[in-house]
This record gives sequence, structure tokens and C-alpha cells, in this order.
Amino acid sequence: TAELMNGKELAASKQAEMKERVQALTEQGIVPGLAVILVGDNQASQTYVRSKQRSCEKAGIHSELRHLSEETTEEELLNHIRELNEDPTIDGILVQLPLPKQISEQAVIEAISPAKDVDGFHPISIGKMMTGEKTFLPCTPHGIIELLKASNVDIAGKHAVVVGRSNIVGKPVGQLLLNEHATVTYCHSRTPDLNAITKQADILVVAVGIAKLIKKEDVKPGAVVIDVGMNRDENGKLCGDVDFADVEEVASHLTPVPGGVGPMTITMLLENTIESAINRS
Ligand code: NAD
Repeated sequence: TAELMNGKELAASKQAEMKERVQALTEQGIVPGLAVILVGDNQASQTYVRSKQRSCEKAGIHSELRHLSEETTEEELLNHIRELNEDPTIDGILVQLPLPKQISEQAVIEAISPAKDVDGFHPISIGKMMTGEKTFLPCTPHGIIELLKASNVDIAGKHAVVVGRSNIVGKPVGQLLLNEHATVTYCHSRTPDLNAITKQADILVVAVGIAKLIKKEDVKPGAVVIDVGMNRDENGKLCGDVDFADVEEVASHLTPVPGGVGPMTITMLLENTIESAINRS
């Protein structure tokens, strides 16, 4: 059976290291600061924001929540961002997505100063990621790479298959795998014969949002399988895009849900915020 890739454990040890870095910075008079903007009352978003804030607090990072109403206009939100761009106590700005329909997500993302773009969603950050320049990397994809490395999985020369092509997970994780010298194939909702391609993967990353989409017959024996999905199964229990009990029989490494990719995402957010604070000047 597959070796478990324990994101929870890796995240805990990285966050313990970060706490020491934050302490040292704080002694030099630099308290890293993250501003989180939440618009409206989306339940899932509130949960994510709470857990990001809790992690900040534990690491000694100052966090500031701006919770705005569902009726907030785009201009009002942009004003908050402009203010935070100028705020010397804030190193990172995160706008929790999705946003209400009257607000353009792209306009908001582009308003965030690239120097404070700790989510790595700004087109400048994305462009630098593509050309391999130093920049803030998007947190979930970066966390996946860190988890692979910590598990001693070789990426160079491997066939990595990414299922899903969203801007926040699928596309950037494929790019980061390419930067690590994998041969990368993307699959998505228009891919006619998904299984024919996933079966070729040495490293399979699944970011779709369909509970238990990937079964053991979709996985090459010995493959490394990364499950990004966060879904509810028929009993309301949290589950991934991969049928864990099934795929565990054939994969060499597998991430659990919860406790795999999720904790790494937050860890990379904290890391970006600390990096940004170090670059403060
Ligand atoms: P999304 O809805 O933006 O994108 C889903 C992608 O899946 C699309 O590119 C689509 O083409 C593809 N797709 C849909 N149906 C498909 C099918 N039948 N076969 C193949 N491809 C198909 O979602 P997202 O934001 O990328 O998130 C994906 C999942 O990952 C969700 O469950 C989300 O909750 C989870 N997620 C987890 C974390 C984390 O930190 N653990 C972070 C972000 C997202």
C-alpha cells in the first residue's frame, strides 16, 4: 500500500521553524503583517480565512481581517487595497476568492502591489513564475512541490499529469512541475479519454472538485498521487478527488484528505508573508 504523504506533519515542522524566524525579525522591529479581505458571508471562505488567521497568530505574524459586506462595490474594495498597499505594517494582502458578482476578480488581483502579492495571483507574479524568476509562488502549487521534495520524490524527467486547469491550482502546479524538469500533460473537462492519460502519469496531481473521481484503474502502479480536492462525500465527510481506499492499493505515495495538501497551502502563505517582511524597506 501507498506511503502516506503527511502534509500536516510537514506543515507543523515548517511552521515551528517559521515561528523562530518571526521571533528573530520581531526582535529587529519587523513584525510580519498579513491583511486578509473577506467580502460577503460565504461559509467555506469564512472557514478558510479563520484558519489562515489562526496559523498567523500561532507563528507570531500580525494579521488584520477586513470583513466587508456582500454589497461592497468594486471601487470600495479597490480603495481598501490601495490603502493596504501603502501600509508599512502590512507585508501581504490576500483577498479571499470567490468575490460577489459585481466585483471583477481580475481587477482586484491586479490592484494588489506585486510586492505584497503573497497569493502569487498577480500577472507579474505569474509571468515571473513562468520565466523562472524569483517571485511569490501561488501557495497550493508551491506546497505540492515542497511536499514532493520532502517525500524524496524525483520530479526531473518524470511524466507529470495534472487534472484541472484553474488559475489557482491546475495551471500553476503544471508550470512548477515543468520548472522542476518534469514532462507535463494537462487534462481538463474537455479531455475526451481522461483515464488513457492519467494511467501514464508517474506523478498525478488531481485538482478538479469531484469527489472520488480517480479510481485505482486510472492510476499506474507505483505512481505518486497528489489529491488537491476538498469535497464532501455522500455522508457529508470531507474527501478528495481521489478514491483514497482504492488508489492506496496501487500508488507508491498518496496524500490524504484532510491532512495532505491543505496544511501546506497555509504554510506557504506564511512563508511568503515572512519573505515579504524581510524584503521590506
Ligand atoms: P475549479 O473549479 O476552478 O477547476 C476545476 C478544473 O477541473 C477545471 O479546470 C475543469 O476543466 C476540470 N474538470 C472539471 N470536471 C472535470 C472532469 N470530469 N474531468 C477532468 N477535469 C475536469 O477548481 P479549483 O479551484 O482548481 O479547485 C479544485 C479542487 O481543489 C476543489 O475541490 C477545491 O476545493 C480544491 N482546492 C484545494 C486547495 C487546498 O489548499 N487543499 C486549494 C485550492 C483548491
